[in-house]
Amino acid sequence: MSIASASPPHVGTGPAGRFGPFGGRYVPETLVPALEDLERGWGRAWGDRGFRQELESLLRTYVGRPTPLHRLRNLGTGKDGLARIYLKREDLCHTGSHKLNNALGQALLARALGRNRIIAETGAGQHGVASATAAALLGMPCRVYMGTEDMARQELNVVRMRLLGAEVRAVDSGSRTLKDATNEAIREWMTTYRDTHYLIGSAVGPHPYPTLVRTLQSVIGTEARAQILEAEGRLPDGVVACVGGGSNAIGFFAGFLDDPEVALVGVEAGGVGEELGAHAASLVRGRPGVLHGAYSYLLQDEDGQIAPTHSLAAGLDYPGVGPEHAFLRTSGRARYVAVSDEAARGAFLTLSRREGIIPALESAHAVAYALEWARELGPEGLLVVCLSGRGDKDVNALPQEGT
Ligand SMILES: *Cc1c(COP(=O)(O)O)cnc(C)c1O
Repeated sequence: MSIASASPPHVGTGPAGRFGPFGGRYVPETLVPALEDLERGWGRAWGDRGFRQELESLLRTYVGRPTPLHRLRNLGTGKDGLARIYLKREDLCHTGSHKLNNALGQALLARALGRNRIIAETGAGQHGVASATAAALLGMPCRVYMGTEDMARQELNVVRMRLLGAEVRAVDSGSRTLKDATNEAIREWMTTYRDTHYLIGSAVGPHPYPTLVRTLQSVIGTEARAQILEAEGRLPDGVVACVGGGSNAIGFFAGFLDDPEVALVGVEAGGVGEELGAHAASLVRGRPGVLHGAYSYLLQDEDGQIAPTHSLAAGLDYPGVGPEHAFLRTSGRARYVAVSDEAARGAFLTLSRREGIIPALESAHAVAYALEWARELGPEGLLVVCLSGRGDKDVNALPQEGT
């Protein structure tokens, strides 16, 4: 079967790894043994004390965990009518975003499975950098597929990956962004999986990836929950995270899923308009279909062809979303909203100027929504935002007249 296809699966009779009707394993037959092997290996590794200890030790000394939970000093003081706002500082992770939590875990898993070569795809370049970093640490060769449009937008990350010893493979097909890079990585993996691990960068793809990535990123939510209880003596009214493929959000939400009093809000890229092609809001404006091995929400035209997407933030510029988010949306446990490029740019500047923190443009989408929500909640309210990454990489994406 084709890699990108929007034909509806047979709900309930599909393969393993379902979140309600979503998820599954829609891949060419040749990849099924590789995924089954990965699923078994993951189960073994996660249950193994030695594996967990090595991961925890590296998260502490190499990634820099636990990351701080920081209360904004100048916004949400009470006097301005805003709720109190805390940031979970994933921007302070080594390499500048939450991505290394996952990349490091998967690289260790690859080694445990005897697969000593890494391939990855990247959009914003953050996952490519995280993969190249983990590969360098563990002494593995690494190839990163990246769309040429993204390579131009995120030049600094291309330089970083090469410095780290990775090969950056330019992808010049389709929209030349993450979707196309992902197609190429899957295509390669079909012939190399025996000795190569495909290190997927978000909570997307065929089972077991969405679960594996969520579990590796759940450290964000687990830490944040304990930290907010310690700081405030109560749970927040809501938590907010940006959603590209959905990994920082699902890892963050995981800490609060069993606390029904905590509202979960995922913020997608609203781009420059509501029509197809003007945004990347798969959950807010998309329909269910199959993309990159899983049944989830995606942006598609009437014929089921994958639609072009737009976002100021390269890391959100993806037409699909992780299947667990599709399930949380339809079950009503989480709510999803879209924030425009312009609002994200505004929040980027506000956080930089008022708080001395330059956020990633992706994270700025979450900050923009949180500031709006904080006004509705008023001074008694309490919000925690996942600041998924830092904004150094984005300074060239901002028009100078906006600063
Ligand atoms: C990659 C990236 C995202 C989007 O990916 P998710 O899987 O949705 O988390 C968000 N923020 C930053 C800083 C990123 O690098």
